[in-house]
Amino acid sequence: MAILEVNNLKKVYTTRLGGNQVEALKNLSFSVEEGEYVAIMGESGSGKTTLLNILAALDKPTGGQVILNGKNIVDIREKEISAFRRENLGFVFQDFSLLDTFNLKDNILLPLVLKGVTYREMSQKLMPIAEELGIAGLLEKYPYEVSGGQKQRAAAARALITEPRLLLADEPTGALDSKSTDEMLGIFSRINQKGQTIVMVTHSVKAASRAGRVLFIKDGEVFHQVYRGELSDEQFYQKISATLTMLATGGERR
Ligand code: ADP
Ligand code: MG
Repeated sequence: MAILEVNNLKKVYTTRLGGNQVEALKNLSFSVEEGEYVAIMGESGSGKTTLLNILAALDKPTGGQVILNGKNIVDIREKEISAFRRENLGFVFQDFSLLDTFNLKDNILLPLVLKGVTYREMSQKLMPIAEELGIAGLLEKYPYEVSGGQKQRAAAARALITEPRLLLADEPTGALDSKSTDEMLGIFSRINQKGQTIVMVTHSVKAASRAGRVLFIKDGEVFHQVYRGELSDEQFYQKISATLTMLATGGERR
């Protein structure tokens, strides 16, 4: 069953000076099945952030639909959006976006606090996820006391503690060293194997090669996609690299 359906998504930005219009998303359509792990790649300016912001219900499209969990998020009323987001979505960003004045535990629990979950339920949920992500011993520490990789694992725990239908990630390994990147990608693979649906924007072929499918976006449209099928990470890496080269050289539409 498709958990996410994006139909003919359009986004036009009108810049204030001179009223210039930028068509960031033209006619973008794709769907994601429950349990899939999809990576989205594309050159700078291709519309990735615009797409992710719309999927996250942080921005409205100019046209088209985003059907998440059977509901068109474009139609959700303003005052219901935060609750819908908390119920259905988890986010991991490149810059971690943890609150510096909260320790890791309180950062991780924040979405449950906002949801009004009981203290008892919060404490039942905290340890399993902290252990899964290897940060059980760091919960009393503040973000500035831990490494980038540990911060990102706390951010992932915060995203996952609500058991979201869809995990959205924007360059989740973009600020990490190679060891922390490998750890983070290992965590994403593990949670996906346990059934978590993931959509991840990334520049990194290595990160994309861990997904089950890669969508290539160009000029606001889905230009191409490749499936892992039976390929190993290494073979899929080669296939993604070859596709990027093909798109950069022979893939011009103009
Ligand atoms: P990516 O994340 O792939 O680099 P973006 O979604 O940020 O791409 O941008 C897509 C296009 O939309 C670019 O041409 C960019 O300049 C333009 N754009 C993005 N945000 C705005 C905005 N707030 N106002 C005007 N143009 C924008
Ligand atoms: Mg971007």
